[in-house]
Amino acid sequence: MDNKKHILITGGAGFIGSHVVRLFVIKYPDYHIFNLDALTYAGNLENVEDISNKPNYTFIHGDITDLDLLRQLFDKHGITDVIHLAAESHVDRSIEDPLQFVRTNVMGTVNLLEAARKKWSPREAHTFYHVSTDEVYGSLGATGLFTENTPYDPNSPYSASKASSDHFVRAYGETYNISHVISNCSNNYGPNHYPEKLIPLFINRILNNKPLPVYGDGNYTRDWLYVEDHATAIDLIFHEGKNGETYNVGGHNEWKNIDLVQLLCDQMDQKLDRPIGSSRKLITYVKDRPGHDLRYAIDSSKLQRELGWKPSRDFQVGLQQTIDWYLENPQWLEKTNG
Ligand code: NAD
Repeated sequence: MDNKKHILITGGAGFIGSHVVRLFVIKYPDYHIFNLDALTYAGNLENVEDISNKPNYTFIHGDITDLDLLRQLFDKHGITDVIHLAAESHVDRSIEDPLQFVRTNVMGTVNLLEAARKKWSPREAHTFYHVSTDEVYGSLGATGLFTENTPYDPNSPYSASKASSDHFVRAYGETYNISHVISNCSNNYGPNHYPEKLIPLFINRILNNKPLPVYGDGNYTRDWLYVEDHATAIDLIFHEGKNGETYNVGGHNEWKNIDLVQLLCDQMDQKLDRPIGSSRKLITYVKDRPGHDLRYAIDSSKLQRELGWKPSRDFQVGLQQTIDWYLENPQWLEKTNG
């Protein structure tokens, strides 16, 4: 076996994972990237088609709930590091079927930790990186920001499963000396986002003149970050983050859902040569999601101060680029059946 890094990236056929895999494969030709993905409804190999022939890239179709498979992969490929993104990621689906979220997000993470524990010696340099969400912190009131010291207070089965997997990563670090980092990031947007999530869902619905269902009074507030800015944060944290630390990642870019939807409507009207304001007529208010968190907002000053990261993409520009990508890739949208 050579001495270079053999990084197992899980969930690399999904939204964020595909951007992370691309960044690592292109930027680090000396690493070998193994993309492990079960290709659930949210996974799509077209997301990484452009790098699929690179010599430092291997796709593995497999499930993180299969511990035997993970052990074989660690043995066969001499996995040196893990960047773990594979997850069930949609809050509404977690309310319908919480057990699937426990199986994938909790058991899947523990399986990866087990495979790493059995294979990695504490004397060697390894990193287990868990990519997590700001939703583990629960809900904010009208003011304040989530810091790395905010107590965990998850409200949905999704966020509870991610909180649990964060705890397991930390516990394996403490108990078995597995070198680890965790990042908790705000809402991402950008190309390749499965159209069950707000921005791509509404782009698709505006395109097809379908109603735009906004939960409750539309005042739910989220902090939006362009997916490539998240990928650069992951690159930085993986290489320079300190063992055992958590880093919050966010865009300092809070939007009430209703304001975001109106902006999206107007940008789409402009793109589609429709009278400005016409798509806003598609907005309908629907019954609230149970356990809906009012506001998420991230304080990412630790990451900015200690590792020098900052988000680069202006939101209006990023949104425009996202719209352009979906309009230029109608076959992707159709295939995902959003
Ligand atoms: P996604 O749903 O787009 O992709 C998830 C990927 O994981 C898919 O390719 C899917 O096929 C794969 N997968 C699911 N179950 C699997 C299993 N059992 N074995 C192997 N692969 C499996 O998700 P995303 O939005 O790209 O999120 C990626 C990660 O980032 C998740 O861990 C999520 O919790 C976290 N995160 C997401 C956001 C966001 O705004 N999307 C924000 C913060 C953190």
